[in-house]
Amino acid sequence: MSREELRDLQGKRLHKLVDLVYHNTPFYRAKMQEMDLLPDDIRTIDDIVKLPFTTKADLRDNYPVGLLATPMSEIVRIHASSGTTGNPTIVGYTYRDLEIWKEVIARALTAYGVTRGDIVSVGYGYGLFTGGLGAHYGVEHLGATVLPTSTGNTEKHIRLLRDLGVTGIACTPSYALYLAEALHKQGLSADDLKLRIGAFGAEPWTENMRREIEERLGIQAYNIYGLSEIMGPGVAYECGCKNGSHIAEDHFYPEIIHPETGEVLPLGQEGELVLTTLTKTGMPLLRYRTKDLTALHYDKCSCGRTLVRMDRILGRSDDMLIIRGVNVFPTQIESVILEMPEFEPHYLLLVDRKNNTDTMELQVEVRPEYYSDEINKMLALKKKLVARLQSVLGLGVDVRLVEPRSIERSVGKAKRVIDNRKL
Ligand code: ADP
Ligand code: ZN
Repeated sequence: MSREELRDLQGKRLHKLVDLVYHNTPFYRAKMQEMDLLPDDIRTIDDIVKLPFTTKADLRDNYPVGLLATPMSEIVRIHASSGTTGNPTIVGYTYRDLEIWKEVIARALTAYGVTRGDIVSVGYGYGLFTGGLGAHYGVEHLGATVLPTSTGNTEKHIRLLRDLGVTGIACTPSYALYLAEALHKQGLSADDLKLRIGAFGAEPWTENMRREIEERLGIQAYNIYGLSEIMGPGVAYECGCKNGSHIAEDHFYPEIIHPETGEVLPLGQEGELVLTTLTKTGMPLLRYRTKDLTALHYDKCSCGRTLVRMDRILGRSDDMLIIRGVNVFPTQIESVILEMPEFEPHYLLLVDRKNNTDTMELQVEVRPEYYSDEINKMLALKKKLVARLQSVLGLGVDVRLVEPRSIERSVGKAKRVIDNRKL
């Protein structure tokens, strides 16, 4: 679809959406009345800037189901996001919403090169988390075979990958690494498997992490992005060009705003991603602030898709650590570690405040080939990493080199930062 046609379609869908929420979601009607807005004021997609933002706090304040735009009897599924503080976030889906969801996942799988002949193992957690069930129905919708392995039993997982000749896998990047390690531990390698494609998401990961996973599992690794408030995985996905993730813009309209001022930023600039669900009917959201930091690119992709491309998520604005006034994202640290052959992609950041000064300790695993009892070797390695971090982050980091396999592995979303500061 050309960009003009797409914008036209987005405008029509937005108009319908605003009409829906105005008449069915008291929260949005009140907000629009406050702003003196009527549904008919929203005619084209450019009018979207007139609409109010929605935040995670709005979802919590309307807990559990105050933001639904349909009676509960129309809701056929509920998911909930983990919710680190306060109420969890509940999302409700109509039958139609689920159809759109599986459609966008099937699109993503197609973009990765998955076809009906593939067997795809879904290693995202099944349950209230959107990853498992979301990916599951997309694989079926495409007509490929789904293997609902979920998280947990890695040994059995590997066995099934082998015995069935599984060709595709969807899980978190950290679980992919864990799986690769477990494979190695069993004396097996990527050559013992038929895996060729992986769809990884649900947490930020870097280009270096991609290289690592591709090598260890002998696959092509692609990004998949999403969040439960908007739908779940499948909001955006990479194509064969691995040059940013295409947003399924006919269903999810993206904007980039300044994370502090809320002002819409010029094209191409990095900021907070804001998404509007153009077609959802269960719990549609207007201009939802994702807190995810990225930039959008509208030039045509070499794959031929006209859908906008989103950069890798640098992190959530609330993942950003401010250490002695310097802004640091865990992904920057991951990138530094993985550029150096001596380290494993397993690390932990311990942040604290001592004598009114922020401290940050990075624990990182040394690869077995480089791990040594000789203190001088280890000191030299540590010095090298400290210098590299200093030059990339502009910050002195206390580094602690730890033995291979000493940092706890994660099967779901990795937790890499422990911030003990009482701010
Ligand atoms: P929770 O809020 O409980 O973590 P969600 O599944 O809704 O549960 O999490 C969505 C968030 O996960 C996104 O807002 C984003 O921060 C992160 N995320 C999901 N996919 C990716 C991805 N491919 N790259 C980076 N971050 C991602
Ligand atoms: Zn593309």
